[in-house]
Amino acid sequence: MTAPWAVVTGASSGIGLAIAEHLLKDGHRVAAWARRGDRLTELVERYGAEQIRMFQVDVRDAAAVQAAVAELTRDGAEIGLLVNNAGLSLGLGPLDEGDTGDWHTMVQTNIEGLLACTHAVMPGMRAAGRGHIVNIGSLAAEFPFLGGNVYAGTKAFVHHLTANLRVDLHGSGVRVTCVAPGMVRSEFAVVRFGGDQELADALYEGIQPLTPADVADAVVWAHRCPPNVNVNHIELMSLDQPYGLSLSRRKDAR
Ligand code: NDP
Repeated sequence: MTAPWAVVTGASSGIGLAIAEHLLKDGHRVAAWARRGDRLTELVERYGAEQIRMFQVDVRDAAAVQAAVAELTRDGAEIGLLVNNAGLSLGLGPLDEGDTGDWHTMVQTNIEGLLACTHAVMPGMRAAGRGHIVNIGSLAAEFPFLGGNVYAGTKAFVHHLTANLRVDLHGSGVRVTCVAPGMVRSEFAVVRFGGDQELADALYEGIQPLTPADVADAVVWAHRCPPNVNVNHIELMSLDQPYGLSLSRRKDAR
């Protein structure tokens, strides 16, 4: 019997990449999902096709998500871990200045994409009587910050869904965890600021944010706990970050 796969969505950068690498170093077989195939190819070249498979998947495309799960499990292989990490924040201002296209992208990725991946993977885990779903939430789900509106709402959904999934999966042997970081230095801010690297760099001036590896450590720790232990929720943040994301502290960052 082959070892189960760990599916990591959004494995092409930041937290997802760090989680994929931590799991690979921990001996897991990893299925790395993202839209940017060139990034995933580099990962496969680094770790070898035995240990890692890449899937160029947009999580907003539910049919593509189903097809990727079917392909991965075609030979009867199990998915032992799903890390729902793919996500993004777009836009800076208050809701009335928001762009409806940005809202749709966030809702489709952070909520509907996560649902599509979970829906595709859950039946196999239930049938196997084991498995672990880790959802990457955010401190933004709990503490408001200027410009957080829709993004924070999508992450609040992730937190509540995680708790509800535990109820849905009660008695199935499948564990469900939410890992909710504060500020992490990744490509997240560059994406949020529309590609403006300078503005993204300014956000971290004078503070030491979490690294993607810090979050990956938390995910791997939760997964390593014995199968009778469900780690419900992990909140972690930089020592330099007060509660709330403080994005209003600089005028040029609004
Ligand atoms: P990055 O921008 O570095 O990584 C985001 C990842 O999501 C990329 O791999 C990207 O891959 C992937 N992604 C985005 N949209 C899609 C899509 N439609 N389909 C498939 N993959 C997609 O940011 P982070 O690593 O920081 O973010 C990872 C998660 O952590 C997100 O859910 C974010 O909300 C959460 N988070 C981040 C915090 C931070 O401060 N950085 C704080 C709290 C939570 P590609 O573009 O190749 O598709």
